[in-house]
Amino acid sequence: MPNTLHVDYELKTHDETEQIVREAMEVARQEIPKGAVADYIPELGKADPNQLGICIYPIQGEKIKLGDCDKRFTIQSISKIISLCVALELFGPQKLFEKVEAEPSGEAFNSLVELDLNSNKPYNPLINSGAIAVAGMLIEEVSFHDMLRFAKELCDDDDIVLNKTVYESEMSTCSRNRAIAYLLESKNIIESDVEDALRFYTKMCSLDVTAESLANFANRLANDGVGNVSGRRYLSSENMRIVKTLMLTCGMYDGSGTYAVQVGIPTKSGVGGGLLAVSDKRAGIGVFGPSLDAKGNSIAGCRLLKEIAGKLRLSLFYDTDMISAKPIDYSLHDFQKR
Ligand code: GLN
Repeated sequence: MPNTLHVDYELKTHDETEQIVREAMEVARQEIPKGAVADYIPELGKADPNQLGICIYPIQGEKIKLGDCDKRFTIQSISKIISLCVALELFGPQKLFEKVEAEPSGEAFNSLVELDLNSNKPYNPLINSGAIAVAGMLIEEVSFHDMLRFAKELCDDDDIVLNKTVYESEMSTCSRNRAIAYLLESKNIIESDVEDALRFYTKMCSLDVTAESLANFANRLANDGVGNVSGRRYLSSENMRIVKTLMLTCGMYDGSGTYAVQVGIPTKSGVGGGLLAVSDKRAGIGVFGPSLDAKGNSIAGCRLLKEIAGKLRLSLFYDTDMISAKPIDYSLHDFQKR
């Protein structure tokens, strides 16, 4: 069956595409020793750093699954996308953006410096302060149980559960997030119960997923919020536009700009090693690789996405039409002479 992912302007077969991804994995694996697993949440420190898996789910075509793509790991910050989707559907963009901005922060994901000194609102919903503010809004409307059910639905994965061990491990070491939550309360951003908001946020981070469940979710985001098989709409088109824009500009924290230049696929990372990557109109991609770079993003996972983004032309700014193959008409030398 032909695959709709583009390679050198041609459609490659499933097997040819799989071979390209397999080779990219071997390149990416070399990065693993340069990173380390997160250990500020003690349970995450027990992960085997050498794991690496990817699932690519094209809008048209079969899934490609390689490596540790069925291993369970906690979703961590990727849950911020689920919460953001639900908040946008429940409250609408106007009400949401009264509580949180839509600007890249340029700071670490768990920073509270800017929130305290420069701003009365968190910079965006994809850093901890923003997501805890969103949790404060959500707890007034939905239960964790509702969110779990929706996560299973969006990820097409009935086996997603709360990982109680990781949840308790994070709750017993989350002083920093607790400080952020109380700072948000002091600024009237959180108007609900702070401890409830913190528990809700941490539970969402502790959902056990696989690279495949993330690929299923990403596939729906890439397909404008609609299931490509069922035709069922899960999320509105307008909210999809907002979510993917935020993923591109803020999804990799203070590494978002470099990542956008190198990879160009709207992506959200989590310190459990997951990556949720949305190659718009082309494919949903889930990656698992728990060895992290200094910013908290999967080191081999980012390299893997960089490799395949180039080879399969998955960047947002590659044209999927043949027009991209047209040579440049305008000569830079003409310009320099003037
Ligand atoms: N639960 C983690 C935290 O709040 C999520 C952070 C992340 O994945 N970047 O620190």
